[in-house]
Amino acid sequence: AFGKLAAKSWAKTVNGGWVKPVQALLFIAMLGFGAVYFITDSLTAFYIMTVLAIAFGWMWIAPIGGGDMPVVVSLLNSFSGWAAAGIGFTLGNSMLIIAGSLVGSSGAILSYIMCKAMNRSLINVLFGGMGSAAVAGGADDGAPKTYKSGSAEDAGFLMSNASDVIIVPGYGMAQGRAQNAVKELYELLKEEGVNVRFAIHPVAGRMPGHMNVLLAEADVPYDDILEMDEINSDFPSTDVVLVIGANDVVNPSAKDDPTSPIFGMPILEVTKAQTVMVIKRSMSTGYAGLDNSLFYMDKTMMIFGDAKKMVEEMVRSINGGGH
Ligand code: NDP
Repeated sequence: AFGKLAAKSWAKTVNGGWVKPVQALLFIAMLGFGAVYFITDSLTAFYIMTVLAIAFGWMWIAPIGGGDMPVVVSLLNSFSGWAAAGIGFTLGNSMLIIAGSLVGSSGAILSYIMCKAMNRSLINVLFGGMGSAAVAGGADDGAPKTYKSGSAEDAGFLMSNASDVIIVPGYGMAQGRAQNAVKELYELLKEEGVNVRFAIHPVAGRMPGHMNVLLAEADVPYDDILEMDEINSDFPSTDVVLVIGANDVVNPSAKDDPTSPIFGMPILEVTKAQTVMVIKRSMSTGYAGLDNSLFYMDKTMMIFGDAKKMVEEMVRSINGGGH
């Protein structure tokens, strides 16, 4: 899972008809040697079981695509908790039992919430082998597509003259360490009388709660940070949406394109707002490797540059804008 998150070449997704039989074989053999160890106390059986367990762990995770890794990481985290609780029972250590159960159940709850956010079942994530096909997907007909781009000053002007602004942060805000600049922008717009709120997708960024942690670190008031379900219905009445380094979590193909690998995943419906501005460095894809039709819409303005630099420029332009 680490290798996949870090995009290491040795952690490439494996697939093929042989995968499931090998998994099953390893699993049964592991249980078998576990049983032998249990009955005979044979240490050899224990070592073989351990090696088989490692091999099974590898073979179990290897076919799962990168896009599903957040769920897998959270599930593995949950397993580590249950394992600790199990050892707690063996050693008669109630501290381990309590701590293990807490880790185990919170990880399980988190995995469930993430699956729900992606509109998938846990079984489908673990054994469906989806996500790896993401790069090949998407309805790209090869026709040249055009997009509009603008400057940070344009964006600053538009936002300070709007009455409702929703900021959608994504992985790029974390990558560019832009959260403090974003907080400054938020405060400045509030001073201008703009109703500014944040919309957080459950899997924005690279770990659960990533955006919430960053915004909390920058001291953004919790009241203005809204979850996807709370804010999705507000986009149609919003003047300006500022997307900061998010891509997959605002990709309309998850709703409109049944051939898309992320079809069915709930998204932040930013396309319903009047104007959408997107800060990113290029037209390149996000985590799932998919093109995003949002970037080519008439109402969308791309603002190319590093998240922190662009937001700072917006702050400067609003400050100097004579309001
Ligand atoms: P994405 O990965 O879809 O997109 C991030 C975008 O940010 C990129 O397109 C990139 O474009 C841009 N970017 C990167 N660095 C910067 C920067 N310094 N300044 C400005 N822009 C930048 O992110 P989302 O948050 O939208 O979606 C999260 C994805 O990660 C989902 O697919 C999710 O499933 C997956 N995931 C989520 C986890 C979680 O638990 N939250 C864990 C693991 C994966 P460009 O290169 O052009 O700048």
